[in-house]
Amino acid sequence: MIKLRLFDTYSRTVREFTPLESPPPGQQPVVGLYTCGPTVYDYAHIGNLRTYIFSDTLRRVLGFNGFNVKHVMNITDVGHLASDADEGEDKMEKGSRRTGKSAWEIAEFYTAAFRSDMKSLNILEPTIWCKATDHITEQIDVVRCIEEKGYTYRTSDGIYFDTSRLPDYGHMARLDIEGLQAGQRVDMGEKRSPTDFALWKFSPRDQRRQMEWDSPWGVGFPGWHIECSAMSAKYLGDLFDIHTGGEDHINVHHTNEIAQTEACYGTRLANFWMHGYFLQLDDTKMAKSAGTFLRLQTLIDQGYDPLAYRLFCLSALYRAKLNFNWESLDGAAKSLERLRQATFDWGPAGQVDQAFLEKFGDQVNDDLNMPRALAVAWELVKSDLQPAVKKATLLAFDQVLGLDLANWAPKEEVIPDEILALVEQRQLARKEKRWGDADALRAQVTQAGYEIEDTAQGPRVRKKGL
Ligand code: AMP
Ligand code: ZN
Repeated sequence: MIKLRLFDTYSRTVREFTPLESPPPGQQPVVGLYTCGPTVYDYAHIGNLRTYIFSDTLRRVLGFNGFNVKHVMNITDVGHLASDADEGEDKMEKGSRRTGKSAWEIAEFYTAAFRSDMKSLNILEPTIWCKATDHITEQIDVVRCIEEKGYTYRTSDGIYFDTSRLPDYGHMARLDIEGLQAGQRVDMGEKRSPTDFALWKFSPRDQRRQMEWDSPWGVGFPGWHIECSAMSAKYLGDLFDIHTGGEDHINVHHTNEIAQTEACYGTRLANFWMHGYFLQLDDTKMAKSAGTFLRLQTLIDQGYDPLAYRLFCLSALYRAKLNFNWESLDGAAKSLERLRQATFDWGPAGQVDQAFLEKFGDQVNDDLNMPRALAVAWELVKSDLQPAVKKATLLAFDQVLGLDLANWAPKEEVIPDEILALVEQRQLARKEKRWGDADALRAQVTQAGYEIEDTAQGPRVRKKGL
């Protein structure tokens, strides 16, 4: 099997992945993985969930390669303003006005909704969950560190990071700083440069915020980017293996996380920076702020299994935009059903076919090439290997695919006796080559809301749409 290679946005190259720390003798190497979690002011949309399916796939591939993953995910429950450039209202306070609940209640409610979506999609729980509001002291400490190193200035509304002090600010995003300054049109307020960003914001003088804390600079709340620098360093150290997020984080959020850690710790924070590309709807970005978005529950209400959406996402490279449409989701739902039924029909699992496993490994290790890995899975299904071998091998693939194939069984359906009688009569008609009768009997069954599938083991009847 080829060695694991991953695309690193920072260096813009596909590089071989090796953990930063070598393990003590006889133990599995530990890999530190940090994923930017959701901003819990509304439900996650299926675009957000695509990004978490990507990070889950990465985590599973690391496990497949024998690494012991320490996965940290944060919950942004304060400080993410309406625009990523520190403008506008805090999304949590805005959500509070929209729903009439407190910002704290909203955070709790949407965190629970997000975790339930994760469970439905068979996304593994992170090893550590961390909330921004539980780590205010840690965030203040990092801001203080940045201040001591001389990278901050104060305005009337907060403490800002002076990006001009950092010679390679914007390196990962390949930002054209001069171009940005020349093209600056929006009001910068008291910011010295368009790329400067808030580390600590003061509460407005005339209004009490629901979420605010005391700090060395005055009462207020942390800027959005500082939470990830502070919490990732706390749980994984100031230089860890992999940091993930969606592609929109490249230019602002992750660029600023890197600036903060470079200023305070002198590191680029993560050895690999990886980004999942957007899910689009009709070729435009799906965004919560636009108000029109699809939730996982919307798909469930339409009769889809959440794991069909997972399989739909796996059919594209994570580094490519993906257009959502119902026809493709239908295709994924059918494929999922075929994989489940095949796995079930194969009976007990035997030995894994190592050659196939290696072939699959070559694809997932090639920067998570899941479409090609799925092609290997279909090749296995169609192969003439023993059913028990196919089963064991597909279940080994499923450690990475995460389709929970081992736990699926056909729904125990009670088929009414009169339908079973019709099916039996049809079998008899077919045996006696009375094809017209057989067709008419099938039509009767269909009309009653059932469908017949002729398999090698005989006819299978089920309620339509299941
Ligand atoms: P948020 O809850 O807005 O902080 O976003 C959660 C995650 O979803 C982040 O990693 C975003 O980069 C990602 N994201 C936002 N919109 C999309 C989209 N349309 N497709 C894929 N990922 C997205
Ligand atoms: Zn983050």
